[in-house]
Amino acid sequence: MNILGIDFEDWFHPELIQKYITNEKKHPQVIDGIHEILDLLRKKETNATFFVVGELLEFKPDLLDLILDGNHEIAFHTMNHTRLDAPNFKNCFENELKKFDLLTEGKSKGFRAPSFSLNKTSSWAIDLLEKNNYVYDSSVMPAKTNLYGLPHAQKTPYKITSTSLENNSDNGKIIEFPIMVSKILGKTIPVGGGFYLRTLPFKLIKNGFKQYEKNGIPGVFYIHSWELTPKYMPKIKLSTKDNFITYHNIDTAYDKMEKLLSLHEFTSFENYLKN
Ligand SMILES: [Zn+2]
Repeated sequence: MNILGIDFEDWFHPELIQKYITNEKKHPQVIDGIHEILDLLRKKETNATFFVVGELLEFKPDLLDLILDGNHEIAFHTMNHTRLDAPNFKNCFENELKKFDLLTEGKSKGFRAPSFSLNKTSSWAIDLLEKNNYVYDSSVMPAKTNLYGLPHAQKTPYKITSTSLENNSDNGKIIEFPIMVSKILGKTIPVGGGFYLRTLPFKLIKNGFKQYEKNGIPGVFYIHSWELTPKYMPKIKLSTKDNFITYHNIDTAYDKMEKLLSLHEFTSFENYLKN
């Protein structure tokens, strides 16, 4: 069984877009695509985890019921999509956890760091997740990329601690679910995410799942809300590189996701842990 996490954020949240926009223009739009995402999951009889940027719940509180009524799970993706290693964020994170706990009536037990920003300088986050009764984290990409990655991290789920980010520690309470990777021509590359689904040949993604299924490991896959519903995503003028990462083949993501949901079985982190 594989695991699907939807990073539910709006058009002004992705890190590569944040630097191009100013405060006054931020008005949520992608949020309106939730019904299309829920319809897709319903059609494919799939449960998923929604890692929600907390401020969207303040803007549209009924997101919580929409997600839970579909038998999906709600989890945390920070209040404003702040990198964990941003200056001084350590002092805000616990307040954010408590705020999100109130907004979600204590339902959130899982976390994903924006831009996979869990690393040596932000490992304190694991201690705070433990302290606030979180059960799991899915912020580790066990491969090297230009933007993020802990290439030495374990590929299978493990107990993570702030002093053991990459390997199982028996003292750990938080279960880490690393994102799916694949070995291609001797090199480990990420395959379990929306960007990879949009830019790599579909066969590579499919093979990743096949490998994990063969080894009895859950293939952990992430996709952004705005990749599934790009019509709500304004086209901001970005640099060539940022434009590629953000928008390349974005109109193909929904159909490819639908195909993946037909070929492989997915569930939420919560359901996976229950079984
Ligand atoms: Zn995100």
